[in-house]
Amino acid sequence: MQKKPTYEELEQRVKELEKETVRRKKAEEALAELQRYTRELIEVTLDPLVVISSEGKITDVNRATEVDTGYPRDKLIGTRFSEYFTDPQKARQGYLQVFSEGHVRDYPLEIGHCDGKVTPVLYNASVYHDAKGDVAGVFGTARDITKLKEAEEALRKNENRLKALLAELAAKNEELDSFVYRVSHDLKSPIVTIDGFVGALKEDFGHVLPEEGKKYLRYISDAARKMELLIKDLLDLSRIDRVTRKKREFPFARLVKDALKALQPQIKARGIVINIQEDLPVIYGEKRRLGRVVDNLLTNAIKYIGKENPSPCIDVGVEEQDGQKVFFVRDNGIGIEQRDFDKIFKVFQRLPSAKKQVGEGTGAGLTIVKRIIEHHGGKIWLISEPGGGSTFYFTLKDKEA
Ligand code: ADP
Repeated sequence: MQKKPTYEELEQRVKELEKETVRRKKAEEALAELQRYTRELIEVTLDPLVVISSEGKITDVNRATEVDTGYPRDKLIGTRFSEYFTDPQKARQGYLQVFSEGHVRDYPLEIGHCDGKVTPVLYNASVYHDAKGDVAGVFGTARDITKLKEAEEALRKNENRLKALLAELAAKNEELDSFVYRVSHDLKSPIVTIDGFVGALKEDFGHVLPEEGKKYLRYISDAARKMELLIKDLLDLSRIDRVTRKKREFPFARLVKDALKALQPQIKARGIVINIQEDLPVIYGEKRRLGRVVDNLLTNAIKYIGKENPSPCIDVGVEEQDGQKVFFVRDNGIGIEQRDFDKIFKVFQRLPSAKKQVGEGTGAGLTIVKRIIEHHGGKIWLISEPGGGSTFYFTLKDKEA
């Protein structure tokens, strides 16, 4: 027979039951609070969140999903997840991938709104498990990438516009080049005529012309010759990009030797010491044009070596800069102010200091040199300072490049 509890014992048990009830109530309140908090989190997020069952049906959504699909939550829940995309087949594949791999990352899809609007999204989804550890379904979030797509589209449009502008520019340049070519070509013949008649005048009437008249004829002749040189340079310049000559490999040293041979008289007259580096490499390109580059740089180095220079000296060689072969022609001549570095590569630009030096020039030489180097995929630049000589550097592309 069980012993009847005493009054005190009953009172004690009632107290314990009351305490238990309070604990349980608090636990229920805490749980409700936690659920409210989680729900709040899910609802405030701007990305659509969906919970999908293992049969592919929607079991829960947030507010953003309602906004992006245009359907209220009670219409969405219980329907197929894949129906709300413009490509349901692709959506299903993504969903199956989550089951086979446990997750998908940045899976591109498009949510179709009931009014026809389409939202491009990147889907990220993972499986979730029940208390026993079995896969219960999929939890998926979609990131709206409309802005990104718009930015990409704007970029693509800009790129296309830029391409069109570049093509337009190239066509205009070509047009300008062929205009320069035609004009300079057409100008040649009147100059030849002027020169021819000046010669005829001298020959036929030289004996009756006063000294003053002969002087004027000389001026006309000089001007015609200068004009001829200018036109020849213009023609050469316009031809560089219009005509590509055959490219081949040849020793750089050969170009230097050929150029120096023709310049011997000036070199001797000025007593210039020329140092050519040994083991100059083989280069690849249009031989005659690269010959012109070397010839022009050496001619300038001689022209601008300085009349009063007590030990005129020119070095030609190649060195390595940032893993690239860089050719150079260095003189210890009059030098150039840094502010004029760009100017000297512009056509018909001569510096006032140049006019005081030996030898004439049109001011087109370095423009032609730069065009030839760029035509070969290389670059040209210089370092120089007034009175401190100049070094002209240039690069060329290798045959493989
Ligand atoms: P130019 O026919 O006048 O020599 P370039 O185009 O070859 O024409 O050179 C342009 C200008 O650059 C020259 O007039 C000169 O002022 C300057 N220049 C070129 N090379 C040198 C150099 N080695 N030293 C000093 N000045 C130079």
